[in-house]
Amino acid sequence: MIDLRSDTVTKPSAGMLDAIMHAPVGDDVYKEDPSVNELEKRVAAMFDMDEALFFPTGTMANQAAIKLHTQPGEQLIADKYAHVYNYEGGGVSFNSGVSCKLIDGNRGMVTAAQVESSINPPDFYHSPLTSLVCLENTTNKGGGACYSLESMREISDVARAHNLGMHLDGARLWNALVATGQNPKDYSSIFDTISVCFSKGMGTPMGTVLVGKSDLMKNAIRVRKVLGGGMRQVGFMAAAALYALDNNLDLLVHDHLKAQELGNWLAASNAVKKVEPIETNIVIFEVHDEQAAMKHFESEKVIISNMGQGKLRLVTHLDYTQAQHELMKAIIKAL
Ligand SMILES: *Cc1c(COP(=O)(O)O)cnc(C)c1O
Repeated sequence: MIDLRSDTVTKPSAGMLDAIMHAPVGDDVYKEDPSVNELEKRVAAMFDMDEALFFPTGTMANQAAIKLHTQPGEQLIADKYAHVYNYEGGGVSFNSGVSCKLIDGNRGMVTAAQVESSINPPDFYHSPLTSLVCLENTTNKGGGACYSLESMREISDVARAHNLGMHLDGARLWNALVATGQNPKDYSSIFDTISVCFSKGMGTPMGTVLVGKSDLMKNAIRVRKVLGGGMRQVGFMAAAALYALDNNLDLLVHDHLKAQELGNWLAASNAVKKVEPIETNIVIFEVHDEQAAMKHFESEKVIISNMGQGKLRLVTHLDYTQAQHELMKAIIKAL
């Protein structure tokens, strides 16, 4: 079986399991888990942020951040593909009582001009008060596209000028950093809060860290409590994340290379209409016959995602081996 549905299907490696088994732990609800404390300190420092908090999932970290930035009745601005809008179960309205103004962006990315024109005038009391901008980097539904620092900075300048918070959904921020060579420390002048996941390309079983400025983060632990996210000896999972920072971060470049190669092979196939630009580990391509293509992959024991309207998606990851990659070449050729 070659599973290319998502980079979340990875299982902890022998080295990671060893790190988990030997992790020093304590009760993290009392903030006494040394492994969690070390991870939070390390990730905060990486992004030059004041504070960090460990969450079970990216969804919970994003939802907590949105709650920290907003009051009920307010509105956030996001791209129409945003995970916070499409794939968090309606949590924006459920948890925070907030609505979304969606921008018709490019591959999940928006521009400063689009953000500016989406802000409701604060003295026009008929409209919801705009209070937050949520960006995603890399974009998920946008096919793993990466923002440039300049473009995020321009958006942040607009947000600051209008008193809006800036949150980054960085579920795949590690991929963006590796692909662009950006310095993570540059992110602290652009965003107030950032979520970074360890359960995607980094290969851990669970865990996301929310980093941010202390004025917002001082309430994060209470919001996490309300969402049911206080965890006890979760240092076992923090140890997996620390292991991933030491060992797996540098391996993401291989996922990106393989995605690029898969894209090249797909582009050479007559069955493929179009391959979207590939910047990281996500390959979105359009086929002439969706059913036939899905059937072909299935018969070759390859599982991929069907996004509908002829669009299919492959995601490379840590457990997608070089041997599987060689096999994929022939499988795509036979498409
Ligand atoms: C995966 C993902 C998340 C978080 O997902 P969880 O499954 O809750 O960890 C958030 N945002 C984006 C863009 C994602 O791809």
